[in-house]
Amino acid sequence: MSATVVLQTGREKSLLRHHPWVFASAIKSTQGRLHSGDTVIVLSAEGKILGLGSWSPESTIRVRMWSFSADEVIDKTFFLRRIQHALTARQLIKQNTDAFRLVAAENDGLPGVTIDLYPGLLVCQLLSAGAEKHRDKIVWALRKLFPSHSILERSDVAIREREGLEPVRQILYGEIPEEICITELGAKFLVSPLEGHKTGFYLDQRSSRALVASFARDKEVLNCFSYTGGFTVHCLLQGAKHVTSVDSSGPALSLLQRQLALNNLPTELSTTLNADVFAQLRQWRQQGRLFDLIILDPPKFAESKQQVTRACRGYKDINMLALQLLRPGGFLATFSCSGLLSEDLFRKVVADAALDANRQLLYLHRMAQDQDHPVAASYPEGFYLKGLLAKCE
Ligand code: SAH
Repeated sequence: MSATVVLQTGREKSLLRHHPWVFASAIKSTQGRLHSGDTVIVLSAEGKILGLGSWSPESTIRVRMWSFSADEVIDKTFFLRRIQHALTARQLIKQNTDAFRLVAAENDGLPGVTIDLYPGLLVCQLLSAGAEKHRDKIVWALRKLFPSHSILERSDVAIREREGLEPVRQILYGEIPEEICITELGAKFLVSPLEGHKTGFYLDQRSSRALVASFARDKEVLNCFSYTGGFTVHCLLQGAKHVTSVDSSGPALSLLQRQLALNNLPTELSTTLNADVFAQLRQWRQQGRLFDLIILDPPKFAESKQQVTRACRGYKDINMLALQLLRPGGFLATFSCSGLLSEDLFRKVVADAALDANRQLLYLHRMAQDQDHPVAASYPEGFYLKGLLAKCE
């Protein structure tokens, strides 16, 4: 018999709307023995069955729902069905790329489970107690769907601490190549699955790389927070005059330099700088250096609600600096991947930066995570990456 979790009166509303989280504060009582990752039945205060979820004793998100039906059995075929469903939903993206997010956690009905598909390789992140508990079933399902793919786990991320889990990086099946080559919208990229950030590549920026690159022809481009050169390569392939890429990661920049030859791009079109973007932009401002197109794709500045105000200051600072380095009529492509910062607030922060820089900005395009990172309608938290492409007078 599964243990049961009974909610406080009135706290079933979000589950009735199929939001997948139950916070600790919503729980009135529990019955039965509960271990980390165990499947529990969730009941309303009136005893109505709301569904099945996994128990996360350490996290404020105490239960993550696997299903809103009590009849579901959380066995290996459950994971097979959910992953198969996610794969079917991604048939279109295959025309654009051979690397994409196969499972986007809560958005694909698998809380805490992220799986990226690369040529010959699957890279997973298991970030909740429930995902951790069912690792073997997930691997079984992946082997069934992709018998010839190796499987790597990159759960070496701090967020697991919130679930009381240690960081893990391990091979789950097969041999893991040190590098793989992917083809995204005609551009080739080397990806290091073992050492790279996240699962190796920022797949979520695919559609924005294409849009931003379409503005790059004959432009002098500055790519801030370049990582391994996603925007750099696409801009050069679209005819940019020159791209300067700045990042604080040496290994990322080494890989960036190798992407040029891979795409038959002359190395003299690209300059890389291993530097802190904030300091570098200030230095260039002093020197009066100017660019035609500036890309700002910083890491997440806000990890918690308490950090949002400080994050806004960071976003405002880099956006203001970037605007001061833009030629009149230049373009700014600016992003925030902090899910806790709303799109509306981000737009205001960039508008404030423009005021302080004394520049007029016209927002031309809104950008967002690509379609292989879908947002479940019942889970607005799934939307995290927003961007603005603006013309600067
Ligand atoms: N635009 C990239 C992804 C950027 S991820 C792409 O399309 O692939 C964010 C990057 O910012 C990481 O590579 C990280 O090394 C870098 N970074 C973080 N803080 C930095 C700082 N203060 N200065 C320079 N780079 C920084």
